[in-house]
Amino acid sequence: MSVGVSTRVEEQPQVFDTSMASGSIVRLLWRAVRLRCPNCGRRGLFGKRMKLNERCASCGILLERGESDHFLGAYLFNLIVVELVLAAVLATVAIVTWPNPPWGLLQWGGMLLAIVLAVVCYPFAKSLWLAFDVWLRPFTAAERDIAAGAPREIAEELV
Ligand SMILES: [Zn+2]
Repeated sequence: MSVGVSTRVEEQPQVFDTSMASGSIVRLLWRAVRLRCPNCGRRGLFGKRMKLNERCASCGILLERGESDHFLGAYLFNLIVVELVLAAVLATVAIVTWPNPPWGLLQWGGMLLAIVLAVVCYPFAKSLWLAFDVWLRPFTAAERDIAAGAPREIAEELV
């Protein structure tokens, strides 16, 4: 912390291009649940077979934010949602059919439901995780330049 009068402007770690501003968390999540880029709202997060594209074609944000393990959180989020939904469905069926629940149906149907839910929820888990990440770490001009191919050191100097 500085003492006295200083004419020096405090360094800002990041400079945000307002044209890349993402908006509120509600807007980010709304874009994500529609499988759109949380940053700009354009379509095209996923390619063929729901494979995540490297970057948004519109704003250029790296969809894994330049980190190979970026989506570990998405995997965890997907697992939690699938397990909660599965538990709710199985408990509801067991309670409704009590005292003679269809144990075979619950066992095999539960396994099938877990697989289907994991596949269906997967793209939403990724887009929602990206939305949270963009909310916590907004897209910067440096990130845009890195995505465009500039070496990280040069792009960070531009900030
Ligand atoms: Zn975008």
